[in-house]
Amino acid sequence: MTDPQRVLSQTFGHAAFRGRQAQVIDRVLGGGHALVLAPTGSGKSLCYQVPALCGVGLTLVLSPLIALMKDQVDALTRRGVAATFINSSLSRAERADRYTGLARGDFKVVYVTPERFRKAEFCQAVEAVGVGLLAVDEAHCVSQWGHDFRPDYSRLAEIRERLGQPTTIALTATATTEVQADIITQLGLQPGEIQTFHEGIDRPNLTLEVQEPYDMDAKLAAVQQLAQPGSIVYFTLIKTLRAFSEPLRDAGFPHLNYHGDLDRRQRRDVQEAFLEEGMSAQVPVVLATNAFGMGIDKPDIRAVIHAELPGSLESYYQEIGRAGRDGQPSTCTLLYDQRDLATQMEFLRWANPDADFYVRVKNLIESDHEEIHAQGLEYLRKKLLHRQWKHDRRLDTALAMLERYGVLSPDSAWREEDHPRLELVGELPQALLDPDRLAQKLRRGQEKLLALVNFAKLESSAERKAFLNDYFGV
Ligand code: ADP
Ligand code: MG
Repeated sequence: MTDPQRVLSQTFGHAAFRGRQAQVIDRVLGGGHALVLAPTGSGKSLCYQVPALCGVGLTLVLSPLIALMKDQVDALTRRGVAATFINSSLSRAERADRYTGLARGDFKVVYVTPERFRKAEFCQAVEAVGVGLLAVDEAHCVSQWGHDFRPDYSRLAEIRERLGQPTTIALTATATTEVQADIITQLGLQPGEIQTFHEGIDRPNLTLEVQEPYDMDAKLAAVQQLAQPGSIVYFTLIKTLRAFSEPLRDAGFPHLNYHGDLDRRQRRDVQEAFLEEGMSAQVPVVLATNAFGMGIDKPDIRAVIHAELPGSLESYYQEIGRAGRDGQPSTCTLLYDQRDLATQMEFLRWANPDADFYVRVKNLIESDHEEIHAQGLEYLRKKLLHRQWKHDRRLDTALAMLERYGVLSPDSAWREEDHPRLELVGELPQALLDPDRLAQKLRRGQEKLLALVNFAKLESSAERKAFLNDYFGV
């Protein structure tokens, strides 16, 4: 085996391991399973990338997002590592090529989504070469109660068995105690067989504040007072973001807006202006929805403000985590207004259609194929949601779930509002038909929201941090 320290410096160009990286790598190289909980940006990837180059054999990385894979693979390739990904963004011929390379042992690191195991060709190729280390990134996706749940993550035990129980490392930034237990169960392991490395979630340089402005004007005033150049102000709704942006502009308060209604170029421009280095005083305040986040690795963000209540402590923690990466004192302020709860309750309702709704969606796709083809998703919305059809997002949830559970073909283009392609290839699974299970999922969502309310009611930054520690099972 190659020495991890040498791989770290020669391949990655870093002088020393950070946090628990060295311990985790040691564990994995000794053939032990590991569960790694550490904040975003703390360097979890190295915990499997270094072992991959120490001679463990093929490292197979399960990752939920195709978009994230490409960046990781590009970064590894630049460092001369034989890495690749296999996913649906490739042409058939490219995929076939990579399967051949995989079976031949050309790669040290291969990224796939767990759904890839539905493909026999992939299974054959990977079984031919054998897996030395299995890395499960963003492992919180196994949890049935989170919004990120991916049914194929619940097949991890079966996947591990297929691969002959390889050494396994699971990694995530935020997992409640319950989700941690879920991850271990889904891997098919006993708690005694896997070692948990908890980096802790405390960020000593962050102060966690809560204010309760009594109306919109008071909130606006608070934003103006708290936001400095290079601060992020988070909103739940684009509508509210716009409602703040206008009076701020009238008041001559410089800021940029970032949300999902902007096109790619506009978003990139805002991101670039925000990340601009060396002229901090001119860096704008950004009003943003949670679409603003990935790739925001600005070290000197001094303030993160939540102008609306986020949906869970997981999102809250993720978002405040962007403040103070340089270790300097920074303040995170939640502007808590009880009325914002209504928005989150509505989101929960949209995220949790009942069984009857799923049945109706599936039946309509079957029976009204031509109308949907001619009129787009609007036809379905009107049929299903009646007068509420413009606001209610239940159809989006239902279509996403049907795709995840393989009821709709993976090639379905259900996001194409005007010309959706909805191809039914499977039956509704029990998970979407069982009223008890669906009700329980809704209840979990409500409990998460309640935790946030309880958090907001605490009196001091210290109490809030203790609450977070408890919530994330530190
Ligand atoms: P995570 O997956 O925990 O969000 P990443 O693995 O993407 O974080 O790493 C975040 C950044 O930290 C990367 O730019 C990586 O190069 C850097 N990094 C990781 N480990 C070290 C280290 N030991 N020394 C210096 N930089 C590191
Ligand atoms: Mg990561």
